[in-house]
Amino acid sequence: MSAASSTPPLDRFSLPDAGGHFGRYGGTFVPETLMTALAELTAAYLVARDDPGFQAELRHHLKEFAGRPTELYFAERLTAHVGGAKIYFKREDLLHTGAHKINNALAQALLARRMGKKRIIAETGAGQHGVATASVCAKFGLECVIYMGAHDMERQALNVFRMRLMGATVVGVEAGQKTLKEAINEAMRDWVTNVRHTHYILGTAYGAHPYPMMVRDFHRVIGLEAKEQLLAREGRLPDEMVACVGGGSNAIGLFFEFLEDPGVRLFGVEAGGRGIKRGEHAARFAGGRLGVLQGCKTFLLQDAEGQIELTHSVSAGLDYAAVGPEHAFYRDRGRIEFGYATDAEVMEAFQLCSRQEGIIPALESTHALAFGLKRARDLGPDKVVVIGLSGRGDKDVQQVAALLEKTKA
Ligand SMILES: *Cc1c(COP(=O)(O)O)cnc(C)c1O
Repeated sequence: MSAASSTPPLDRFSLPDAGGHFGRYGGTFVPETLMTALAELTAAYLVARDDPGFQAELRHHLKEFAGRPTELYFAERLTAHVGGAKIYFKREDLLHTGAHKINNALAQALLARRMGKKRIIAETGAGQHGVATASVCAKFGLECVIYMGAHDMERQALNVFRMRLMGATVVGVEAGQKTLKEAINEAMRDWVTNVRHTHYILGTAYGAHPYPMMVRDFHRVIGLEAKEQLLAREGRLPDEMVACVGGGSNAIGLFFEFLEDPGVRLFGVEAGGRGIKRGEHAARFAGGRLGVLQGCKTFLLQDAEGQIELTHSVSAGLDYAAVGPEHAFYRDRGRIEFGYATDAEVMEAFQLCSRQEGIIPALESTHALAFGLKRARDLGPDKVVVIGLSGRGDKDVQQVAALLEKTKA
């Protein structure tokens, strides 16, 4: 590589720097009133991270409550169907509450408890992070308030009911598009007001420092397990790994242990929606550029004036205008490559996986699957592809049924 002389060797543990920067990305772009809270959180997290007691407690609850370790599953019939590389799934869909999000929610709840904060707030889009947060709050006896766009509450009524069953207060946000971006704004407003006794459990590897770092660390267990499991099973590292990228938490969790293994190609898959046209997708690396949104500097979908563009995806969990700063950094370095899957490709892969493997994947995860199947097809049978199955599709079956009905009509 010609850039090798100017590019320092990769050291995944050197990032972010003390200010939360991943190269030119990340940082802390918040109101003055939150700076103290973020500094306090960073300090508390760094102490907890190095405390064997905290780590042991976390491991215990990840096992007993969340259901770790999750399986690395050989998708035998899909492999035969595709006729290329061996396909493995990292089965985060088997976790309690149905997705990887519980890893982070559980860890942050333990951290809040350690910090003496008894009230938890969180934002949620599709409701998956809200459900995970409500669940851990019930378990630890913490007060829980979830902010959710009013439009999302209509679309995801079942998840609203699940959160309320577990004792959470769900606050509908009526501003703007009434979706995730507005819910995050409301959660930040609440935090500013109640910061002394409240912790904000942010749901992805995004936002102001320390969240991108902390959330990444709490999901690293995905890749740590996957590496050990694949070495035991195949006696070698995978050739390629594929994960879907909303904010980027399941992907960076799966990839982190492999960043310094140059033989392993890493692919992040964004939501291609109805195609890469303004307002029709959420593929930030396909149509976005550098900007600042909700706490950090990163790639985002914006118009010429810097107004945030509308996004669209069949999967609510990938439907966000900005991407986690660490992904933007590794994309610049060429270490993580990015592609997208369209709604139509996702609908096809969703049905194929259900039929071939008896596993109904979340629509978010199906983006990784659709892309990963194409990769596997292009690789020889002596190759291995690991696909991050970030969640299960139970939440999506009604939506898929309605969409299939529409295409039939
Ligand atoms: C929320 C969610 C995502 C997207 O979030 P990341 O932070 O990018 O992982 C992906 N898959 C599932 C199942 C989700 O619930």
